[in-house]
Amino acid sequence: PRFFLHKTHDLAEGVKQGQLRALAKAITLIESHNTDHSPAAAALLEELLPAAGNAMRIGISGVPGVGKSTFIEAFGLHLTRLGHKVAVLAVDPSSQISGGSILGDKTRMEELARDPNAFIRPSPAGSTLGGVARKTRETMLLCEAAGYDVVIVETVGVGQSEITVASMVDFFLLLQLPGAGDELQGIKKGVMEIADAILINKADGDNRPRAELARSQYVNALHLIRAKSDHWQVPALLCSALHGEGIAEVWETIRDFRRAMEESGEFAEKRQRQAGDWMWTMVMDELKQLFLHDPKVEALLPRLQEAVDRGITTPGIAARRLLEAFRRP
Ligand code: GDP
Repeated sequence: PRFFLHKTHDLAEGVKQGQLRALAKAITLIESHNTDHSPAAAALLEELLPAAGNAMRIGISGVPGVGKSTFIEAFGLHLTRLGHKVAVLAVDPSSQISGGSILGDKTRMEELARDPNAFIRPSPAGSTLGGVARKTRETMLLCEAAGYDVVIVETVGVGQSEITVASMVDFFLLLQLPGAGDELQGIKKGVMEIADAILINKADGDNRPRAELARSQYVNALHLIRAKSDHWQVPALLCSALHGEGIAEVWETIRDFRRAMEESGEFAEKRQRQAGDWMWTMVMDELKQLFLHDPKVEALLPRLQEAVDRGITTPGIAARRLLEAFRRP
């Protein structure tokens, strides 16, 4: 599709009215790799920003097979039954590495996809986590402007993606499998620290006792981690996404969290900090790209890299030479 700067106002109006066609077109504009579209995308975002921000933003992560799609479908349907409008977005930079998307391939969340109050969007394409995440974050703002009051951002635990998703949501939910001790050890370092709740899925049938054991181990482990907030103790919950058990409790927990954070002022504070952090992340990403693609830097880099590798020069000297070359007009 073609985009014209003077048409972004009409597009913004359509998004605000909740028109799906307008929303889809707006997302296509945001996701566009064509830099000619950037001014229109910026105009659209700035016009819609005042109408955004009203959703509860929830990040969800967990290893493949833990039951993310099953859970999001059950959770999303629970929310639409309560009268909410739910958008489900994804951050999956792995498609560039593996050639196949971990999140997007199979037919997922069929029932939720048919629900008129749910909107499901697969991960945008992109070669860097930063690029993929930026598009998802901006799509989140568009969905909020379109009236979705719960936005779920799903990711897999690949590289930094969990940290990145945690930095764009209000509440980060980590799905785990019922398994004792050894599984707990296997939890990626840092991920426990960013979770606002841990949800042990598949707590059904023969798995139930193991799930309960795992839960008490998580509770113990969580007590050893320094709390992010004095007003929130990270809970470990059980659920069976398959049988729809424990789903309502997750939403209750998220509402409790929101209430506690709003009362303490941390809710708004966190969003403000996230917005500032995002600006700087994007500035740094862009600078890095400019640097790496600078012809003078490109010409010098292999030689200097080799010199550092072989101990002929120091990393400090090499860095200074590269930066001098970069700054030379
Ligand atoms: P994802 O890769 O994390 O999205 O996981 P899926 O939602 O695709 O689930 C992986 C498998 O686990 C599927 O076969 C599901 O039917 C199954 N599954 C998901 N949730 C549950 C649950 O609560 N209990 C049981 N027993 N199986 C589940």
